[in-house]
Amino acid sequence: MKEIKYNCFICGKQIESDNVTVEHIILNGIGGKLRSKNLICKKCNNELGSSSDVALSESLSFYTDMLMVKKDRDHGHNQVMTDEDGHEIIVEEAGNKLKLRRSYIDKEIIGDEKRYHIVVKNKDELRKYLARQVKAGEITQEQMNEVMSKAQVTKQRSKLNIQTRVPEEAFPSIVKSAVDYYIECFHRNEDIKHLIPYLKGEKDCKEILNLVIFDQSPFTENPNEITHMIHLEGSAKTGVLYALMEYYSIYTYVVFLKEDYSGADVNITYCYDVINNVEVKRDFSLPVDRAWIVNYMKNFENSRKELFAKTENRANKILGICQERGREKLVSDIVNKAFAKHPEGCLITPTIYDQLVNDIVGGLEEYLID
Ligand SMILES: [Zn+2]
Repeated sequence: MKEIKYNCFICGKQIESDNVTVEHIILNGIGGKLRSKNLICKKCNNELGSSSDVALSESLSFYTDMLMVKKDRDHGHNQVMTDEDGHEIIVEEAGNKLKLRRSYIDKEIIGDEKRYHIVVKNKDELRKYLARQVKAGEITQEQMNEVMSKAQVTKQRSKLNIQTRVPEEAFPSIVKSAVDYYIECFHRNEDIKHLIPYLKGEKDCKEILNLVIFDQSPFTENPNEITHMIHLEGSAKTGVLYALMEYYSIYTYVVFLKEDYSGADVNITYCYDVINNVEVKRDFSLPVDRAWIVNYMKNFENSRKELFAKTENRANKILGICQERGREKLVSDIVNKAFAKHPEGCLITPTIYDQLVNDIVGGLEEYLID
C-alpha cells in the first residue's frame, strides 16, 4: 500500500521523516489526546512558538488541576488562588487540600497600642515569629506565652476566587486547534491559507474568534462528563465554514474559518471526556449563517461584562462538580487501600472488620469538615 504523504499547511513542504513533528490538536497541557503527524512541519511548528499555547493552558489550569486531568507530561504545577482576604492559597488534590502559601503578618499601631494580625501555616511558625519579637523587645515573654496558649489552628476553608478569563494571547492557540482539526479531517490546505497570519500573530484573532455563551452548553449531555470539543460545520447553503471550540464544557468559542464557503457539506464533531478519559460520540448541528457569526463578533464588545458573568456562573457550577469528584476519588482511594491489605475473598473476621473500619475512618478523618 502506498503511503500517503501530506504537505505542511503553512509552508506547503511535504512532510517526511526528517521534518515530521507531532502536533497536539488539543493541547496536552489541558489533557488533549488528539494528535497528528500530518499537519505541520517541524520548522513551521518551531516558528509558531508556544507562548499562545502556554497562555491557553495556564488560563485553564484551574480546571485542569481541580479535575485532576491526566496529561502525558506533568510538570507538577501548583495551583495558587487567593481567598477573600487576598491571602494566597495553594490548592491541591482537587480543592480538598488547601495550604497557605506564605505567612501574613500585619502590624497596626493605634495610639500607644500595637495590634498584630497574624496568619501563619502552623504553630511552629507562630512560635518562631513571636520569639523574634521577644528578642527584638517588641513583646514580652509573658505576652508570647499568652498568645501561644490562645492560638487556634483552623482548617483552611476559605472561599476561593476563580480566575475565569482566557486572555487574548491564547486566541491564536484556539484558532490553531480549529485549523489543525480541519486539516486533519479534510487536508484541504487551500481553504485555510488566509488564516495563517492569525496563527503567526500578524493579524488580530478577535476578527475571527469570539466567546459564545449559550444559556446551556449545546454539547454537554451527560452531567458526569466534562469535555473538550471541536465541532466543524459548513455548507455552500449557509456560505460559511466555522468551528465551535469548547474547553472543559465551559468556554465555547466560535472561529470563523471561511466566508463564501462553497465546498462540500462539513459536519464533524470531536469530543473528549477528560474525566473518564474516553472519546465520546456526539451528533450536533448548528447551521448558522454569516449574519449569526457577525452578530456574535459585533455584540461581544457591548456585552462583554454580561458574558463574563455568565461564564463565571458556569465555572462555579463546574467547580461544584470538581470538588465533588475530587472527594469521591479520595474516598474510593482510601477504601481501596484499606481493602487491599486483606486478600480478596478472605473471610471478614471481627478483627479484620475492626481493622477496615479503623483504616477507612482514619483515612477520612482528615477530610471531614467540622
Ligand atoms: Zn512548514
